[in-house]
Amino acid sequence: MEKTVNASNQPGRAVAGTLAFALFSALAIALVVLVPMQGYTVHILVQTATFGIAVFGLTIVLGLCGQINLAQAAFFGFGAYAVGIGTTDLHMNFWLALSMGSGFALVMGALLGMTTLKLGGHYLAMVTISFQQIITLVMVNWIPVTHGPDGVGKIQRPELFQSSQGFLGLCVFALALIGYLVWRLPQTPLGRAMRAVRDNELAAGVAGVNVYKVKVAAFALSAVLGGIGGGLFAGGFAYVSPDQFSFGESIVFITMTLLGGVASPVGALIGTGLLIVLPESLRFMKSIPGLYLAIYGLSIVLIIRYMPDGIWGFVQDQLRRWLPLPPFTDAAPDLMLSPPQRKSAVESAPALEVQGLAKHFGGVKAVDDISFSVRRGSVHALIGPNGSGKTTTLNVLSGLYVGTAGKILLAGQDVTALPPHARTAAGLGRTFQNIRLFRSMTALENVIIGAEHPGNEIDKGHAALVTRARAALAFVGLEARAQELVTGFSYGHQRLIEIARALAGNPTLLLLDEPAAGLNSSEKIGLQDLLKRIAAKGLTILIIDHDMTLVTEVAEHITVLNFGKRIADGVAAEVLRQPDVIAAYLGSEPDAPDFT
Ligand code: ADP
Ligand code: MG
Repeated sequence: MEKTVNASNQPGRAVAGTLAFALFSALAIALVVLVPMQGYTVHILVQTATFGIAVFGLTIVLGLCGQINLAQAAFFGFGAYAVGIGTTDLHMNFWLALSMGSGFALVMGALLGMTTLKLGGHYLAMVTISFQQIITLVMVNWIPVTHGPDGVGKIQRPELFQSSQGFLGLCVFALALIGYLVWRLPQTPLGRAMRAVRDNELAAGVAGVNVYKVKVAAFALSAVLGGIGGGLFAGGFAYVSPDQFSFGESIVFITMTLLGGVASPVGALIGTGLLIVLPESLRFMKSIPGLYLAIYGLSIVLIIRYMPDGIWGFVQDQLRRWLPLPPFTDAAPDLMLSPPQRKSAVESAPALEVQGLAKHFGGVKAVDDISFSVRRGSVHALIGPNGSGKTTTLNVLSGLYVGTAGKILLAGQDVTALPPHARTAAGLGRTFQNIRLFRSMTALENVIIGAEHPGNEIDKGHAALVTRARAALAFVGLEARAQELVTGFSYGHQRLIEIARALAGNPTLLLLDEPAAGLNSSEKIGLQDLLKRIAAKGLTILIIDHDMTLVTEVAEHITVLNFGKRIADGVAAEVLRQPDVIAAYLGSEPDAPDFT
């Protein structure tokens, strides 16, 4: 397909960027190794480089994945103590000690990440703080191994990097290499999945992202970078002690991340440099107690207050304002969205079979023992008054809620116990009543995430994913605006992007929660047409909507809920004539309502 302009354009830009970056890094390394420097300058630079690596870790876990880690100093400490104890008491090779420390940090980071399965937000923050405090206690009190508050001295450097400037060169090399990887990460499948989790965790799961695995990976990567930074730090300073890896230092790492700009390694480096140089440059004020800390604290508060995206975020905004990118022009390719080719477990089974499904919230029986079956290739509507349990049903079907009782068979496959991403892989796609897009991303990126799951039997190369995603956008009529941020789209178009994201995943059953809500009349007509085109592709649709014109226009079969119970189920026209359905909708009006 020669039409996927950007799929071929993007690697070109990346290669140019990579070359420029490599050149710049080589220059920086040559500079720090060859230009004579004062010991003090080397000291500051080693600290900046090694802290920078640890802050890159926070760029991943906090910036990309949106998870708080208030224990980065502990992971930094693992690397530092491994190199400290390893190269002195244990007479180990520097590299081996560094690898062991980073490996230990990786494992501990993954374990900490596993607590995110049950915990989020404030609780997760508390767990990481507790972890940090425990590690500090171990460093201070496990004297036979850590030497306690005295710390470990006479730490060795590797053979080739004995001189302090040689070692600085090594640190800058590591910083550049890791910085490059962190810079590229957002465009990889893992990085995209992390951003999806950060932007909208529920939607990420439903789009096929294994949310738990991605969070554990983010924590593990963050921790291993902490470990590497710490190991190099120990080599640079030859001495480590517990106070260097305390909770206070974890806060410093977080502040560096936020100050520079949480989402980018460039920001991480700016924040790190600033927080190391700023206190040093204010040191002359130390004769006036308190003033130094006050100015230091105030500057940070002011920067974070007036530059919410950090310094680098602010700079990028200014650059965008003064050097606007040329508008993206791309002929809409005439791509066909391939119909589902999925082989189902049981050929003859209905697309969906719901048996005795229930969901209770405490005493509220939101869904109460409902059963229905959706025929393959049909459009099936689930209707009922507000609060009758329609959205809850969809949430149980897509795995966002665990049902209180019941069984869900998707094309004959029992998916009742599967998490959301596994149901997506099994052929489920859905949209949300209140739109859930990944708000920091373009329309195309949103749809790529929908396409990028293991159940989608397509070529997983980036170009193929882009093609697939563009085809899905073309199908809903938005291909020409693929590269725009989703926040710039109208409400109706955001709904269409959500539908495209679900379609890109190649579902056999599409669940739509009130797709017509909030649309104007011409948008509703467009939606009707779109639904018919989706059905014509052979997809099965289960749609919730209040717009009876739409429902009667597209649906052959209707299931009606009221107070969580199924009150009717059957062929559309007949169901809408039943008195109890009419009563549920209109509060027992005697005359037959005009549903069209
Ligand atoms: P519908 O989509 O048909 O308007 P919902 O499924 O959203 O209805 O809600 C059904 C009932 O379940 C309502 O009474 C609602 O208050 C309740 N409910 C839905 N979600 C929750 C929840 N997370 N916790 C407690 N009650 C809920
Ligand atoms: Mg609802």
